[in-house]
Amino acid sequence: MELFADLEHIIRGYLPEDKVELVRRAFVIARDAHEGQFRSSGEPYITHPVAVASIIAKMNLDHEAVMAALLHDVIEDTAYSEENLKEEFGASVADIVDGVSKLDKLKFRTRQEAQVENFRKMILAMTRDIRVVLIKLADRTHNMRTLGALRPDKRRRIAKETLEIYCPLAHRLGIEHIKNELEDLSFEAMYPHRYKVLKKLVEVARNNRQDLIERISNEIKERLENVGIVARVWGREKHLYKIYQKMRAKDQEFHSIMDIYAFRIIVKNIDDCYRVLGQMHNLYKPRPGRVKDYIAVPKANGYQSLQTSMIGPHGVPVEVHIHTEDMEQVAEMGVTAYWVYKESGKNDSTTAQIRAQRWLQNLVEIQQSVGNSFEFIENVKSEFFPKEIFVFTPKGRIVELPKGATAVDFAYAVHSDIGNTCVGVLVEYKPYPLSKALESGQTVNIITEPNAHPKASWLNFVVTARAKTRIRHYLKQRCEDDAVKLGERELNAALQPHRLTDLSPQQIQAVLDERKLSSLDGLLREIGLGNQLSSVIAHQLVGEPIEIDVDGNAENHSNTLTIAPALMANMQFAKCCHPIPGDPILGCSTPNNGLVIHHQQCVNLKNAHQLVKAKWEKMQSAVNFDAELQIEILNEKGALPSLMTVIGASESSIQNIWTEGLENNLLFVILQISVKDTKHLANILYHIKRITGVVSAKRNINA
Ligand code: MN
Repeated sequence: MELFADLEHIIRGYLPEDKVELVRRAFVIARDAHEGQFRSSGEPYITHPVAVASIIAKMNLDHEAVMAALLHDVIEDTAYSEENLKEEFGASVADIVDGVSKLDKLKFRTRQEAQVENFRKMILAMTRDIRVVLIKLADRTHNMRTLGALRPDKRRRIAKETLEIYCPLAHRLGIEHIKNELEDLSFEAMYPHRYKVLKKLVEVARNNRQDLIERISNEIKERLENVGIVARVWGREKHLYKIYQKMRAKDQEFHSIMDIYAFRIIVKNIDDCYRVLGQMHNLYKPRPGRVKDYIAVPKANGYQSLQTSMIGPHGVPVEVHIHTEDMEQVAEMGVTAYWVYKESGKNDSTTAQIRAQRWLQNLVEIQQSVGNSFEFIENVKSEFFPKEIFVFTPKGRIVELPKGATAVDFAYAVHSDIGNTCVGVLVEYKPYPLSKALESGQTVNIITEPNAHPKASWLNFVVTARAKTRIRHYLKQRCEDDAVKLGERELNAALQPHRLTDLSPQQIQAVLDERKLSSLDGLLREIGLGNQLSSVIAHQLVGEPIEIDVDGNAENHSNTLTIAPALMANMQFAKCCHPIPGDPILGCSTPNNGLVIHHQQCVNLKNAHQLVKAKWEKMQSAVNFDAELQIEILNEKGALPSLMTVIGASESSIQNIWTEGLENNLLFVILQISVKDTKHLANILYHIKRITGVVSAKRNINA
């Protein structure tokens, strides 16, 4: 239990006894689970989770975060499962640990600038609970502190990744002390020599200037006292990496970088901030162009202060940051301020998401109070509640897609040709449905086939405009080509015993002229699309009447219009009888609307003249058709919901609903639903009839 002592000391400072007990239990489970495991340094493994939990506890985060920190490696590295965690400590802790494990699996593989930015976004996109990222940052901090046990090349690689990914992440979340520590540790690991030299130089400078710093500090305090402003004043040395960056940016030697020290002045309100600034500029001479008003224009992570740099005694630069207590808290704690355990607060019932929202809300308020644009808040918001997902190509490139995007969207995002020839997908090297939404962090490998083509059914699940446009474009092209071929087939059939090739150009031109069409292909396409009747055209071409035998048997296909899937989109289906694939159908030619497909039993066909036989091509329909149902159901609570459930479960959806109360406590319902074909519809009806309370259910052909 001695390993637990230090951590216990920290949490006793802010958590009540019952919560301390929970944390102790988490410690025991973690210790036992990691029994027999050791770190590269040779220490027992449990020292690592305890150190991570201590970093979390030093930020005064709630007990769930501390527990999850203790347990953060158990799912990955021990026999303990997420299920076990859930049973033992509840869903919240289990979720956080699961989130950390998922982030651990994420491997950053490419080094391009733009990819680094996307990778950071991916981490946030994968995070529903910000405590996951906080633990990940604490984890990285302890790993960086103990880098010494690793090989130099490995050390450098991890340090570089920390600088590129985790420091900016800590900065984004406003946790400056973590960011600064990670930067210094990375700096040391990447450039051990430069680090040592600079550290020595700063130590010397610090000793030499001790008196001077004291003097400046006293002068500032004295001045504020004289003008009656209540303030806390203290000085802080900048961290080494920041000094190093400054030297690099200005290409300067250390001795010319004088401002390694910055003074903080904390006051009651914003008015006082500006008054203090005035007093400071009166005390020392301000350096031009060095005054920054981050109160009026806060930084993107919510940081606010007035900053100025002045020329102090002996020409020493004096940097001052002025802000209020509230601003100080945001500056120090950032997002963590909202996970801090508060005895009075409703910590247990408030979800992490709500607290993250509260942080955002706070940023919005800061922004509004200074009347600034909303652009930056939109930025932050989209990072915390992303509408995008980020996935990898097999080569490690990161692809950004909207939420809900599928492998087909991904394929088109990578390249149109890949989309057009896509036949399947491997996600994390395992087969994955093309229609299933992808998740952030997945590696997506599209399988292509040179002769494959886009499918109309893809339109049912793709979400990106790019994929939709490409698929439609292909289908339209394909549809027009098909229509010409189909038209030719139809016309030849209608012309029998003649053939199109037997006809003279004059005969054809006469018909084209009459129809105001420019080419034979145009005419054939019109026939194929169902806008012109093949029998009518054939009649005109050869000047003989052609019998259309409406009551004839279906075996005679010569004059039958076949409705192929590719033509579906351009075909007109009658609104009066809603024919669906599988129904017996007839085409009815009308002067204004061309050919319209009706159900054979449609009452509107009774007086129709120009009828043509039609049938469905055998197919798996991807297009959804409307069908109307007429249902009588006992008018009880839950009657309609159970109807909806059945329809939803049958992969159909409700287009329209109309109800009327009948006598005997019956409800009459007319439902318009989407169906694929008669088989699908029969299946839905079967399930509806089995709902308790349903008295009758049938399809309605003519409403
Ligand atoms: Mn770890």
